[in-house]
Amino acid sequence: MFIGHYAAAFALKSVEKKASLGMLFIAVQLVDYLFFAFVPFGIEKFRLVENYTAINHFDLYFYPYTHGLLASFLWAGLIYVMWASLPIFKNMGNGRVALAMALAVLSHWFVDLIVHTPDLPLLGDNSPKVGLGLWHSFMGTILLEVALLIGGLLLYLRATKGTAAMGKYAMIIFVVIMICLYMMVVTAPFDPNATATTMSVTSIAVFSIFAAAAFWLDRYRT
Ligand SMILES: [Zn+2]
Repeated sequence: MFIGHYAAAFALKSVEKKASLGMLFIAVQLVDYLFFAFVPFGIEKFRLVENYTAINHFDLYFYPYTHGLLASFLWAGLIYVMWASLPIFKNMGNGRVALAMALAVLSHWFVDLIVHTPDLPLLGDNSPKVGLGLWHSFMGTILLEVALLIGGLLLYLRATKGTAAMGKYAMIIFVVIMICLYMMVVTAPFDPNATATTMSVTSIAVFSIFAAAAFWLDRYRT
């Protein structure tokens, strides 16, 4: 899952307005951030296999520390404790914001569950692995990703208000750009020169640009 993860960020922002949309954008992708940061160091691993699924070329064969169900609960718990106790984060909201951030982190695994092939470990790498495999359907995956993102955006637009043109339209335009970018990625031909490391660096860069845009555009809505 890629853009569909951001549905959870929009939805959580719509119920907890004190939470930062930019921070929620980071939180819903936190375990992917960590995964792509671990890959160049060999801590977690994946390889690119052409047409491994209908939608991408990812053989995600070792990532128990970021994409295990148990690990997801631990990362979510860590974020909750950090947000609720560290002074630097305390200024960004109360216990409800900490809970929203933790749920955002946890949402990642459950959304991944729908699309991944059975590669998500329940505990460690030797435990049973799960995944409902929607990635084997090209159209099914696109429809779900886009429907989730638009659904999340609609919740956000209903819960917040924008007065000037920037506040009214910019977030909608941003989501359209995200969808276009996603379509470009999934329809691009397999690049034989791409490596797990270059994919990791690119992914972290794209996630960060999305989060920065969310930080910026959310300021125009209250
Ligand atoms: Zn993931």
